[in-house]
Amino acid sequence: MLEQNVVNISQVTQRVSDSESHKQFLALQSTFMSQVTKTYEWRIEQLSQLQKMTEDNKALIEQALFADLGKCKTEAWLTEAGFLISDIKDTKKRLKKWMKPQKRPMPMLAQPGASYVKAEPLGTVLIIGAWNYPFQLTLAPLVAAIAAGNCAIVKPSELAPAISSLIAELLPKYLDQSAFAVVEGAKDETTELLTFPFDKIFYTGGEQVGKIVMAAAAKHLTPVTLELGGKSPCVIDGKTNLEVAARRIVWGKMMNLGQTCVAPDYVLIEKEYQDKFIDILVKTYKEQYGECHKDNKDIGRIINRRHAERLASYIEGQEVVFGGEVDLDNRFVQPTIIKNPSLDSIIMNEEIFGPLLPVLALDNKHQLIDFVRQRPKPLAAYVFTEDKAFEQAFVDQVSSGSLCINDTSIFMASHDLPFGGVGTSGMGAYHGKAGFDTFSHSKAVMHRSYKLDASIRYAPFSKFKLSILKLIN
Ligand code: NAD
Repeated sequence: MLEQNVVNISQVTQRVSDSESHKQFLALQSTFMSQVTKTYEWRIEQLSQLQKMTEDNKALIEQALFADLGKCKTEAWLTEAGFLISDIKDTKKRLKKWMKPQKRPMPMLAQPGASYVKAEPLGTVLIIGAWNYPFQLTLAPLVAAIAAGNCAIVKPSELAPAISSLIAELLPKYLDQSAFAVVEGAKDETTELLTFPFDKIFYTGGEQVGKIVMAAAAKHLTPVTLELGGKSPCVIDGKTNLEVAARRIVWGKMMNLGQTCVAPDYVLIEKEYQDKFIDILVKTYKEQYGECHKDNKDIGRIINRRHAERLASYIEGQEVVFGGEVDLDNRFVQPTIIKNPSLDSIIMNEEIFGPLLPVLALDNKHQLIDFVRQRPKPLAAYVFTEDKAFEQAFVDQVSSGSLCINDTSIFMASHDLPFGGVGTSGMGAYHGKAGFDTFSHSKAVMHRSYKLDASIRYAPFSKFKLSILKLIN
């Protein structure tokens, strides 16, 4: 039995070491060892090249996003290409400051000397991308990895094939090929990548695969950042400005046809305001998207038939007050408002990840907060209110990756807010400095001078030495 295992393991090692992606991994590791990735100049050059790649190929990126998700040009710019360019520009502007060693005070016992924290790159990292923002969610982590001085293998999502092959074609043309590689593929290719001893794995996607990634990483004690999802609630105080609230909720929900990790998943409001708010919501959808028919060019598509079928099943048996049309052949699901779905229905227990918006009602505002608190910690939580005490109660009591008051996904535009989940919505964060930190190790460095070498810390010990040590502690 033992012999059998030995044979199997050596077969796996043989297979892994022969594969193209393993050879790429080893090549990247040796590039990292060469120290080339550590200079400020090299990092800036790679970031500029990534920016140039995005700018030069804007039209191709738009076409691929349209093929994969039916994304309109405005969304393609705002949430993918433009988002990435803005991220790169901000990173380039601030990189020198981030790389600068941070001075720290010296303890009395270690005087004279100096100490500081130096951010050092982790090494060779793996970035596993998601399909919903297939360009930006694959390359924004790469911006952070480059800024921190790492080599990286990038694995785009196979569910967005047009963007996956575009990234595979473009990246090697613009970036240092000895430091970056793209591996395309699905479960098998990712499973193989996960056997390599990366120095960091950055994964964006669902909870189930997140657990697989974390278990594989544990074998090499590789640190992970998991950018996951979940149900992001939207709590509304009925006395707030319902027109503006509706506009901002429809904006967040309609972006990428609801296939956004921070999209408002469902709305919670006090009973007495529910019907009024639903009327305003319907009016808002119509103002922005007419009757929300599939020929509206601003409305995208669901990624594939399987997901369109999943969403269709969520609608069955529900009280639909707006929308409800599904065209599986065209991967189209109409923006749909559902009133009071039962709490044990699938739509209230799974992340919706599509244009269906349940609106639930409870008796009072504090029940709204309790409802959110009793469920898994969301990636984003939203509250619309002008009541300062209620706002503060929400901020203090609701634990979520991010929290936005009086708006929805707009907080993602900030380069100064860390973005990441908590609990089942993920671990770790990126965007701006948080991304640099995620791909760096904060190395503590202490330099001691030879000038003074007080004997009090050395044996033989005495009561006198101890009393001095206590004094300076
Ligand atoms: P997924 O988890 O199925 O896939 C993501 C990646 O994992 C892909 O690259 C895929 O090839 C790989 N993969 C799939 N099966 C695998 C396996 N068995 N072993 C190893 N790798 C595997 O993605 P999904 O669930 O369709 O994505 C949607 C989820 O992602 C939602 O929950 C959403 O909220 C979340 N999400 C989170 C963020 C964020 O930034 N926090 C962004 C986008 C999406």
